[in-house]
Amino acid sequence: MSLVVMKFGGTSVEDPAAIRRTTEIVAGRVALGKQTVVVVSAMAKVTDLLLRAAATAVQGDRTGALAISSRLRSRHRDTAAALVKNSAAILDLIDSKFDSLDEILRGLAAILELTPRISDLIASYGERVSSQIVVAAFREQGINAAHVDAREVIITDSQFQKAIPQDAAIEKRSQEKLLPLLAAGQVPVMGGFIAANEAGITTTLGRGGSDFTAALIGGALQADSIEIWTDVDGIMSADPRVCPDALRVKVISFEEAAELAYFGAKVLHPATILPAVKKNIPVLVLNSRNAACDGTRIISLPPHCKSPFKSIAVKKKLSIIDVVAGRMLMTHGYMKEIFTVFDKHQCPVDMVSTSEVSVSLTVDSNDKLPAIAADLGQLADVKYEGRKALVCLVGDDIRGHSGMAAKVFNAIRHINIRMISQGASEINMSFMIDEDDADEAVRSLHAAFFQDPDPEIFDVDARKAK
Ligand code: ADP
Ligand code: ASP
Ligand code: MG
Repeated sequence: MSLVVMKFGGTSVEDPAAIRRTTEIVAGRVALGKQTVVVVSAMAKVTDLLLRAAATAVQGDRTGALAISSRLRSRHRDTAAALVKNSAAILDLIDSKFDSLDEILRGLAAILELTPRISDLIASYGERVSSQIVVAAFREQGINAAHVDAREVIITDSQFQKAIPQDAAIEKRSQEKLLPLLAAGQVPVMGGFIAANEAGITTTLGRGGSDFTAALIGGALQADSIEIWTDVDGIMSADPRVCPDALRVKVISFEEAAELAYFGAKVLHPATILPAVKKNIPVLVLNSRNAACDGTRIISLPPHCKSPFKSIAVKKKLSIIDVVAGRMLMTHGYMKEIFTVFDKHQCPVDMVSTSEVSVSLTVDSNDKLPAIAADLGQLADVKYEGRKALVCLVGDDIRGHSGMAAKVFNAIRHINIRMISQGASEINMSFMIDEDDADEAVRSLHAAFFQDPDPEIFDVDARKAK
């Protein structure tokens, strides 16, 4: 029997109407006789608000923190009450969760110290509550749902806020906890994003990590497909919020999807693809508000695309660091010294470009930058500048199309470019600009490159219908 892991993002569980749509979609899969595991995010915006409550509490504003929690409690209670007729049990459960959250917030307001570990514990409430509401809503509609605490299945190391999954333990726990439920005809429902270390202490997989949870479960159970249900028709040729005439990409490779996710396309968490690639499990990105749409299929070998690019991604909130030292730049070991500094501060570098006298690097803007600059200052002159964005064009054979760089830079000739890279990867061309220019750059590039898209790859009918 085929097994599918379905992940529903925050907007797919944001209110009673969204949860009803999600329920229908899952009921449809179950009716087809598929074994189904469901992974849900926190309701939209809840993780942000939980983290805001924590930040408020740690500043000593106990009343403010409890007020945020109280609004969240009401939102979850109202949602559950709208979905479940005999709601006493689910409302009690929601109350007990928020009572314990309030305890933590009070403690935080007294201690005035927020560690990454406590931050993860607080953030976990979103998925812990949403998954319980979804179970109650499913049961109300006759789906034989069983709640599973994700922290008993997704085992990670102890790097709070961005914990690393432990594949062997996850495989073992998934088989122990989920297979018996599936065998009994039940639909296991669990929160995404949240996990625990071997000692059972709550961790998280990093923001947007529910996609990753679904892929980990899919990999562990060797699912036939992993479905990522979200609020857009699939992976689009650009972020539709920035570029309203973006086209749906019908099919894309694992590598291309991974590049897009890594370089800022929020539609997929960057780590999602890895477990799927390892086991060659197709990933589908689908729209819970438009379930009839075919979405995007991410597979290992899609057909060749005649258009040079499939999608444009943007990663904002980056900084450029310029290291200038003519005297010793090209001497042996110099690059190593530079990278040792980034390694010491555990700071990943996105892009590098060198000249005879300087090295420019880009990193996520973060509070370690002054310390990194100070260390690099021991080696050379250092400048850094924030509010930068990386624009990344992804396609299956960029090198195969001659004159591509000229076309790209012609399309954005009105924009000042700070760094350029078209490196080892044949599927990605990227450059760095000011953050304020990013949306305009995407729209200009989209207008230049998606006039005549390959109908094998893009949903051109949707554009004609407009
Ligand atoms: P979810 O809560 O379901 O995980 P996210 O907000 O994390 O949803 O991701 C979906 C959003 O990703 C879309 O609403 C869209 O604005 C954004 N996005 C960015 N780039 C792309 C892209 N290339 N294709 C589709 N969506 C994109
Ligand atoms: N709720 C988490 C977040 O907002 C995880 C997710 O939605 O994927 O980051
Ligand atoms: Mg997401």
